[in-house]
Amino acid sequence: MAVRRVVACNFETTVPGGFQGGHMHHCHAIGCHREIPPRRFMCRQHWYALPRHYQQAIWRHYRPGQERAKDPSDEYRTVARDAINWLSATSQKGR
Ligand SMILES: [Zn+2]
Repeated sequence: MAVRRVVACNFETTVPGGFQGGHMHHCHAIGCHREIPPRRFMCRQHWYALPRHYQQAIWRHYRPGQERAKDPSDEYRTVARDAINWLSATSQKGR
């Protein structure tokens, strides 16, 4: 029984892209280097600063696994770029 438990643990930690196996990446906001899980687009702070329609558009175009395949759709790239630009324009105005 004990052996079975160890095997299960090893399996979990070595699954690529699994609960612990995924590598972290950085928030997409310009100048932000916070580490976030790959499936997240931005860190909490920046994500919640985005207008709702950007958040919805990003999730609409998000394909599960695209962060591993490194193959997001053109729509996702476009909306991601717009959101990043919007955020940088807004934070500059705010100063
Ligand atoms: Zn950020």
